[in-house]
Amino acid sequence: MGKRAANHCFDYLLSNASVSADYEANNGTKVEFWVTNCRLVICILSGLCCSHESVRLQPKKWIYFPELPGVGFAAANGVLWVLVTIKRRKFGLGSTLSFLLAAMGLVIVPMSASAEWYRFSDTAMTTPIELEFWAEDKELANRVGKEVLAVFHQVDEQMSRYREESEVSRLNRNAPDGPVEVSDGLFEVIEKAREVSLLSQGAFDITFGSVGYLYDFRAGKKPTDEELRSGLPRVNFRDVILDEDDQTVEYRQAGILVDLGGIAKGYAVDLGIERLVSFGIRHARLSAGGDMRLLGDKRGRPWYVGIRDPRSEGRNAVVLPLEDVAVSTSGDYERFFVDEAGERVHHILSPETGKSVQGVQSVTIIGEDALTTDGLSTAVFVLGPKKGLEMIERLKGIDVVVIDDQRMMHVSEGLVPPQSD
Ligand code: ADP
Ligand code: MG
Repeated sequence: MGKRAANHCFDYLLSNASVSADYEANNGTKVEFWVTNCRLVICILSGLCCSHESVRLQPKKWIYFPELPGVGFAAANGVLWVLVTIKRRKFGLGSTLSFLLAAMGLVIVPMSASAEWYRFSDTAMTTPIELEFWAEDKELANRVGKEVLAVFHQVDEQMSRYREESEVSRLNRNAPDGPVEVSDGLFEVIEKAREVSLLSQGAFDITFGSVGYLYDFRAGKKPTDEELRSGLPRVNFRDVILDEDDQTVEYRQAGILVDLGGIAKGYAVDLGIERLVSFGIRHARLSAGGDMRLLGDKRGRPWYVGIRDPRSEGRNAVVLPLEDVAVSTSGDYERFFVDEAGERVHHILSPETGKSVQGVQSVTIIGEDALTTDGLSTAVFVLGPKKGLEMIERLKGIDVVVIDDQRMMHVSEGLVPPQSD
């Protein structure tokens, strides 16, 4: 693994709160990590290590570090060993030095008095919103933080089907009677939804709401087969007619309920990033639940994005060093209950059957914008690993990690594990 990759690893180690890292370089060329639960890490436990591998990064592809037992790496009891060999010096002395200082727990003096990472959080769209960005000035940072968080409340008011006065609810009431003029934002989201529906041959379908409203995951309620049978004829994205010139939406039949739960958070994240850019911010991470976008890198290093183990909160299945991309995860663990037959009833529904999709635990999409990655993550979840990967491989600049119900990981060609030497 190159020096840069080694730096990435250390940065990742150091970015974890519960870190008690140690560092030792063997002739300046070798470093050993012990990674557990995506936390840190005890370095150099020679003798205790049951197995390890040398790893190397390949250029031009995103690298992922699998942490699930049995995936890609030598692992014992969920503990992953990675041996990193430093071969090249890619980073200049400055960054190497600051990295070493950081490793030693020393504070690096920022350029201006209040230039630092600022963090804000909130709850909106029934999901946690997290924002982290680099700013030179505290006053500006507070203003930026407030404005970006406000975006999520605005989009919620506009696009929630649970709010009677939202634009989407008005559309659901009026569109069966004729074309309804909608805002730029809503038109953009519905247009993208249609694009993802066509790509996925209907696996993604915002009219799933016509049966989706029959579920209440908190109350453990699901529809009867009879209720599903009568609702399913109203699940068909082709019955939502868009007119680009007039910017109108019309439903071809009564009773259609459009629900943007599978795509609106991605839209809001993109808007938030736009807002950050308009303030001159160049390094940021913004997430709304499973939808995240990274602006730039983490000042000289990548951001480390963990894909959680779908069956173990607080534990990662995979870690991706990324920069300047959007990442969306759809999982069967977000909203679910287990029914009387022992089946997991969760919030991602097959438009064909109206029932929760089985066979997949989580899907993560990496792409340019969050509107696209949000829609695609839900689409691939419905399609399953085989068809889902086929669809993604046809799309330029999009990658995917699928964890199936056997806990096997499927990744697209643009992702490579660190290679053995
Ligand atoms: P979240 O980030 O809320 O977990 P996901 O992107 O994983 O959202 O999408 C799940 C949400 O998508 C569901 O809560 C529901 O609102 C919506 N949804 C469920 N099934 C479909 C489907 N087949 N097509 C489009 N949207 C769907
Ligand atoms: Mg989605």
